[in-house]
Amino acid sequence: MGNPRNLRPIGIFGGTFDPIHFGHLRLAEEMAEALELDHVRFVPAGTPPHRSRPRTDAPHRLAMVKIATANNPRFVVDQREVQLPRLSYTVDTLHSLRAELGSNQPLCLLLGADAFLGLSSWHNWQELFDLAHIAIAHRPGFPQSTWKDAMADILRDAIETRMANPEDLNTCPAGLIVTRPITALDISATHIRDTLRAGRNPRYLLPDAVLDYINAHQLYLPETA
Ligand code: ATP
Ligand code: MG
Repeated sequence: MGNPRNLRPIGIFGGTFDPIHFGHLRLAEEMAEALELDHVRFVPAGTPPHRSRPRTDAPHRLAMVKIATANNPRFVVDQREVQLPRLSYTVDTLHSLRAELGSNQPLCLLLGADAFLGLSSWHNWQELFDLAHIAIAHRPGFPQSTWKDAMADILRDAIETRMANPEDLNTCPAGLIVTRPITALDISATHIRDTLRAGRNPRYLLPDAVLDYINAHQLYLPETA
């Protein structure tokens, strides 16, 4: 294995993607650019442990992620979580990626600010730092002033050693934290599902091709009274 400095970090971007929308896609694009990532791996969740079960079957959510990312050569879809017949924890996914990609490869877990705020409730979350860097993207509704407690909880006395700049991420395989302001898009999958359920049109919040898929497969139908 060569010097890790020669290896661009790989971004790991997990989510339920129920459905994928422009908030996700801009996060991945802007993080890939700012952190000079080799590529971003979208990892749709199977049955996530720390939120309610996704409403849509994994094969549909996976298909929508594939459609949305198809024309970007820096976006890769990783099916390992949806293929598992059991709960998938992020830490297990990172172990599996680490085994595949080697111990020198910098990995960078991409999180929106809301996801970061919940990090200390994740299964074996302290181990995450042995496996990957963490890059936190700003998200509307979760201003940086509200991150303080989570930062203090998660970093404890390691603030000095973990907080880093984007250009540091290829100097070691894991363990650093960076934060990035990205274009603020106040879009959520919850809002898109609610919009569809109310019989309204969520176009311009997500790619047309994803909306075509939703309509073709009659996902998120209005509830009949
Ligand atoms: P839901 O409303 O169902 O929770 P969501 O829009 O939050 O959906 P998720 O699949 O839960 O999407 O999120 C996956 C990741 O993308 C998380 O790290 C989340 O913080 C991030 N994310 C989602 N939407 C945005 C956004 N608009 N801006 C920044 N980050 C986002
Ligand atoms: Mg969410």
